[in-house]
Amino acid sequence: MACSTNGSNSTVQDRIFHAEAAPACKELVWLACNEELEVRSLLFAKGNVENDTCPCCGKYSETTMHALMQCEEAKCIWFGSPLGLRVELLHDITTVSEWIGECASFMDKKVLGMVCVIMWAVWEKRNVWVEQRKKLDFPEVMAKAHSMFFSDEWILPSYPHVKANFSASVKDSVGTAMGVVFRDFAGVPQACATNLMEKQCFEEGIASLYSHWNEVIRGKVNSDGFFLDSLLEDCKTMIRRTKSCLRLVGCGGNKVARFIASEAFVYGERVWTEEVMDEATQYVIADVLGPLSLEYSDFDSDSFHDF
Ligand SMILES: [Zn+2]
Repeated sequence: MACSTNGSNSTVQDRIFHAEAAPACKELVWLACNEELEVRSLLFAKGNVENDTCPCCGKYSETTMHALMQCEEAKCIWFGSPLGLRVELLHDITTVSEWIGECASFMDKKVLGMVCVIMWAVWEKRNVWVEQRKKLDFPEVMAKAHSMFFSDEWILPSYPHVKANFSASVKDSVGTAMGVVFRDFAGVPQACATNLMEKQCFEEGIASLYSHWNEVIRGKVNSDGFFLDSLLEDCKTMIRRTKSCLRLVGCGGNKVARFIASEAFVYGERVWTEEVMDEATQYVIADVLGPLSLEYSDFDSDSFHDF
């Protein structure tokens, strides 16, 4: 393990793990900290490529630090990001693990999450260039980073996207209630819907469902009877057609959908267009206003599953 600055490896790993970023970003950062990212210098050392030159600038050896921090294109992204980081001022930092160790020692989980998503986006930009010979511009890189920010608050979708939040609530002996709300880039509701199924259809934990989803997306699934396989395949096809993506969000980022799902026990199957049900309006406003969020003590459902 290379991550040793400012505390033990486990502390740094723990802080990365709790950062507000999608799991893929945190995995990438941890790989980079341990010099396990497949940069050219690593592949060259293994004899898998003919040279270790950076594929982006063509000037230097592509070490992990170079690819993620020091390459000119990476520097521009860090500086243009909300962090406004000037990489050239990090004089004493020679490896990614040193820098992440430093970040983990003083940043809260939100800012550390931002570091993780930007680092992931830098690597994504590099990979799109290597694999597709396509140069992502700065807004495209930031849009990718934005989509991986995993906040416990609801985040507005970037223009011109619409965000759909889903939730399901299971009550023993009653069934599964589902809720969905669609909101635009200003947070204005476009529609919401409830549905109630008599049987319990979410036996699988949401985390295992989400990891299964990621396997479907990567084409790694060999359909071995997982009960939602065909549904997930349909979702994948649908999402490809609309250029959408699916993310797991924390409870705090899904309050409106959670409330609407709980109301499905009252409304059954119903659709509202260009609005949400009256009772949910206060939660929609709270999402847009941010930290003034309301408490949900009136929820009496047994469990929630959020997307
Ligand atoms: Zn370079």
